[in-house]
Amino acid sequence: MKTVYFKTFGCRSNFFDTSAIAARLNEWQIVDSEADSDAIVVNSCTVTNSADAAVRAFVRRMKRENPKAKLLFTGCGAASLGKKLLESAAIDGVFGHSEKARIDDFLSAEKPFEELGVLDHIDETIIDRFNGKTRAFIKIQDGCDFDCSYCVIPLVRGKARSASKNYVLEQIKRLADRGFEEFILTGVNSGAYGRDRGENIADLIASIGNISGVRRLRLSSIEPCLVSDELLDICAAPFMAKHLHIALQHTSDRMLKTMNRRNRVKSDRILLEKVSKLGFAIGSDYIVSFPSESEEVFSEAIDNLKLLPLTHIHIFPFSPREGTKAAKMKININGLVANERRKTIVKIIDQKKRDFYLKNKEPLIVLIERNNSGLDQFFSRVQIISDCDHSGWVEVKKYSIDKNGVIEASKEDCVCL
Ligand code: SF4
Repeated sequence: MKTVYFKTFGCRSNFFDTSAIAARLNEWQIVDSEADSDAIVVNSCTVTNSADAAVRAFVRRMKRENPKAKLLFTGCGAASLGKKLLESAAIDGVFGHSEKARIDDFLSAEKPFEELGVLDHIDETIIDRFNGKTRAFIKIQDGCDFDCSYCVIPLVRGKARSASKNYVLEQIKRLADRGFEEFILTGVNSGAYGRDRGENIADLIASIGNISGVRRLRLSSIEPCLVSDELLDICAAPFMAKHLHIALQHTSDRMLKTMNRRNRVKSDRILLEKVSKLGFAIGSDYIVSFPSESEEVFSEAIDNLKLLPLTHIHIFPFSPREGTKAAKMKININGLVANERRKTIVKIIDQKKRDFYLKNKEPLIVLIERNNSGLDQFFSRVQIISDCDHSGWVEVKKYSIDKNGVIEASKEDCVCL
């Protein structure tokens, strides 16, 4: 049987999409190495310039290291980078998310092809496995109706749309039957789940909690304005991870307005304090060096950031994306300044995380993934210092935090659950 290797870039939705493509294969065998596979499928990300650069570099490397392999391209970069790479004959074919089911045909296509399909498709492929994963990503939603001035996602993923509740429950049942116990609900704007179907994410979570075998459920990134009291009520359920990732993107109203964001500093603080009162760890996304982020604006933003009960943060330097409003804005902050601002924020949040774990009285419940390390209920990586291999669920009673912010525990302070 001919072999195919999948290379996935980007977010959890993309990893789910790759599994959905793989689940449609009939005549090809999936392999774990790109070196001598007969075909390579690149599931791309295009959210930033560096994402595009990483995908382009991978395609170049494959051309060099495995020139005989058929190279196919899909994902969020299909309509932009994908088309360019096809025109320059760097790849053999490009297809859109909606065309996944035709993967066997694409892999055996004789001529180069471009099948971008439509942007209003919602995939309800039931997958049976998640290669090499201990936790299962479940894609419940796709697309986005928001219009953040810097974001290319609505252009490449289309309008917001949700998978049916029955499909999501069936998908989780299927993977729970195959031994998965931790699930992460993901999407492009997952908090918008169900709005196009008269359903809502709080109800969905409540139903998932009734599925036997579901031990822990996490929500991936959610927009502040989509965190309802109803959602917070169900997030307090025992099967829910005690962590929410609430995407603020900035902590200055002047920047939030320029970014055309729907959240504002005052309401964000009220929301995060409400979530923190539940004993939750809180993560967020933050864009630095956005056009017009002057020194004065940044120092105001830092003052506001210091007041927020955050514990985790993803920081992105602004990256102008073709087709977005922000791409036309004048960039007036250089890379060195952007990096200094990133470091300032990292230092603040790192200390907040340490304070959170110093105050925490709960034992950490860790699902070991590999090398005696795994994530706890607060979404922090925990390393068990032990001469024997641990697996499954471990309760950590005592721990310390190393200089890199990794939580460490000796095996004497752990109990296998
Ligand atoms: S909410 Fe904003 S940042 Fe998030 S996907 Fe939608 S447009 Fe992009």
